[in-house]
Amino acid sequence: MEYEAVIGLETHVQLKTKSKMWCGCPNAFGADPNTNVCPICLGMPGVLPVANAEALRLTVLTGYLLNCEIPRFAKFDRKNYFYPDSAKNYQVTQYDKPSTARGWVDFEFSGLGAGTGPDGLTRVRITRAHLEEDVGKNNHFDRHSGVDFNRGGVPLLEIVSEPDLRGPEHAYTYLKALTDILVRGGISDCDMEKGMVRCDVNVSVRPKGTEPLGAKIEIKNMNSFSGVRRALEYEIPRQIAAVQRGETLRQETRRWDDVAGITEPMRSKEDAHDYRYLPEPDLMPFCPTDEWLAEIRAGVPELPLPRKLRLVREFGLPAGDAQVLSDNLPLGQFFELAAAGFQQPKAIANWVINTLAAKLAESAGAVGDLKFAPAELRQLVELVDGGKISLKMAQEVFAEMFASGEKPGVIVEKRGLAQVSDTGAIEKLCEEAIAANPGAVADYRSGKVAALNSLKGQVMKLSKGKANPAVVGDLLAQKLAV
Ligand SMILES: [Zn+2]
Repeated sequence: MEYEAVIGLETHVQLKTKSKMWCGCPNAFGADPNTNVCPICLGMPGVLPVANAEALRLTVLTGYLLNCEIPRFAKFDRKNYFYPDSAKNYQVTQYDKPSTARGWVDFEFSGLGAGTGPDGLTRVRITRAHLEEDVGKNNHFDRHSGVDFNRGGVPLLEIVSEPDLRGPEHAYTYLKALTDILVRGGISDCDMEKGMVRCDVNVSVRPKGTEPLGAKIEIKNMNSFSGVRRALEYEIPRQIAAVQRGETLRQETRRWDDVAGITEPMRSKEDAHDYRYLPEPDLMPFCPTDEWLAEIRAGVPELPLPRKLRLVREFGLPAGDAQVLSDNLPLGQFFELAAAGFQQPKAIANWVINTLAAKLAESAGAVGDLKFAPAELRQLVELVDGGKISLKMAQEVFAEMFASGEKPGVIVEKRGLAQVSDTGAIEKLCEEAIAANPGAVADYRSGKVAALNSLKGQVMKLSKGKANPAVVGDLLAQKLAV
């Protein structure tokens, strides 16, 4: 019998705010232990929390980025537990009324579990993204332990996926896609080494093609995205082998050992926590107004993947070009301004991706510091298109535009670069070349078509490279046909 894995992820992400969730202490990584603390985040008796408005805004913005609904009523709850990392003996979170729910993440993926979304993309549904506070960090030394509360009270989003994932690579790619969105949206820096992203995995196995879910096993303690992938690469075959041996798997929490590369039992369902969630009495429900939501919605940035799909659709660009122009936003914006309404956006894309990007890299410059405008790059492409200058000359003109910011038409004029397309003048040069090269003429007339190129080269030389090559070719062919 064939088995399949059913995987859901709970991803905790620290929000990028200046201060903590309920107090004015800095939200900063790397300070000495217990220096970013106050009576509020230490949970002293009698203190009252005040919600961080920026954290609420980032939560709603995350909801929009993940295509979620934003309920007009959300509230906070206390999750009660006794452990040294929480001085209050509870963590403030959102239990039954979260701030965002029912969204999705679409991403490009081609392995097991692929193709569940529109446009050939892979979709993972988001159950909810709720706001809570981070807790302190326990540090264990030789003969004692200590708690650092700097992290306690840092705003934290818990993003819960539906069990839509089917394999280690699928889960890994989803995590990358999710955190890319959050970084691009300015929600979090998602630096896993600084603990800004943490991830718990729920995984079970079932016979392929069946609906009921197997016993849910939670894995904790992965400290990198590749750790999540490795934990699943170990855990899925372990569960399948156990089921095939006739064992019944029970719901449990397992711990990933990154060094040994195995998962091991941590606790079973029998000793699972009973958190006794209670409504938080010190905080008002969170009821966003339509105006405020509209304001946040208006600031939702275009994400790289939708942007890439749009560039392909609107400009007919190859996927590779669209990828470069969506990964590098300033370059992509420059391209769009230059190519708007232009017949050959691909020609502009070539200039932007090859020539402009290379020049910028060479000079360690930024698009924002360019001395010429996007419309002037379009003018340069038009000069080539109209046969005014050759592609080779255009490179020279571009180099000067880049250095001085002078307009391409002015540079061509000043340097006398314009191609000669005047047939009278070119005709004379053609006649000169024909007279001087009787051998090539005879070759061409006897059927060696390539001999025309050698004559063409002579004419170009006589014109000092300024003759329009297409016009030269036409005239030579006409003359030799007589
Ligand atoms: Zn504080």
